[in-house]
Amino acid sequence: MRGEVAGANVYANGADATRPVIIRLEALSKNYQEAGRSRSILDELNREFYAGEFVCLLGKSGSGKSTLLNLISGIDAPSSGHVVICNGGEEVRITALSEQQRTLFRRRHIGIVFQFFNLIPTLTVLENVTLPLELAGRYQGIQAQAKALLDRVGLADRLATYPDKLSGGEQQRVAIARALLFEPGVLLADEPTGNLDSASADRLWTILREVAARRQMTVVVVTHEPVAASNCVETFVLRDGTVAGRFDSYGLTPSELVLRAASAGR
Ligand code: ADP
Ligand code: MG
Repeated sequence: MRGEVAGANVYANGADATRPVIIRLEALSKNYQEAGRSRSILDELNREFYAGEFVCLLGKSGSGKSTLLNLISGIDAPSSGHVVICNGGEEVRITALSEQQRTLFRRRHIGIVFQFFNLIPTLTVLENVTLPLELAGRYQGIQAQAKALLDRVGLADRLATYPDKLSGGEQQRVAIARALLFEPGVLLADEPTGNLDSASADRLWTILREVAARRQMTVVVVTHEPVAASNCVETFVLRDGTVAGRFDSYGLTPSELVLRAASAGR
């Protein structure tokens, strides 16, 4: 489970040498079999993400966004290449771990907002949100923290409700509260505001940025909606499984975003 202790090399890579690298993708590839033929989604992708980075991976449906997030989180295994997560000065090559070890690592260090929420149907809203902390053996004070967070996302009156009684937007907010409560070092979010009206989405982005800044979280958001990118500092455009280009995206207008996304790497 323990990886190599990270040396100075962790700080020496890439453009931003002042911040430690938290996620490193090394020649990462994923091939799927489709109708007997192999199809490559990510073609030896190399990329580093730093502590406190808040990035967006923007790409059309089918461009490989969910595939990439599932590889970073260790839910899925790559066909070749590696994912390294640096945590407290320690490098863990999660692609070298067993499935069980990856699950344990993910529970401790990675928060995930799934595209389809993945709430547990037999648990209430409150129970869903506190579950990751309980799995990590943390019980002290978590009920109050969970309630406060659910209040902030507008679900204070839904604590005892089961997921099947919630709208898509409400389920999405539960999923976000669940991922944020445990303040992971790495937060991966797949279309986190896709089911929300714009006022709820704005509120969510504010909370997300605030918790991320407090915890120096590395946040990777994937989306197909250019407007979502205006909430992220930097955007990488994913096209056919490769990173076609990047731009600074925070605060850009919708039309600027569409333009920048379309022209990235062309
Ligand atoms: P996105 O999230 O950007 O919409 P995905 O990562 O889900 O894209 O999928 C990228 C491509 O990989 C798609 O063409 C999809 O059909 C294919 N794909 C994803 N998962 C599988 C799978 N389990 N088996 C075969 N092909 C898959
Ligand atoms: Mg997807």
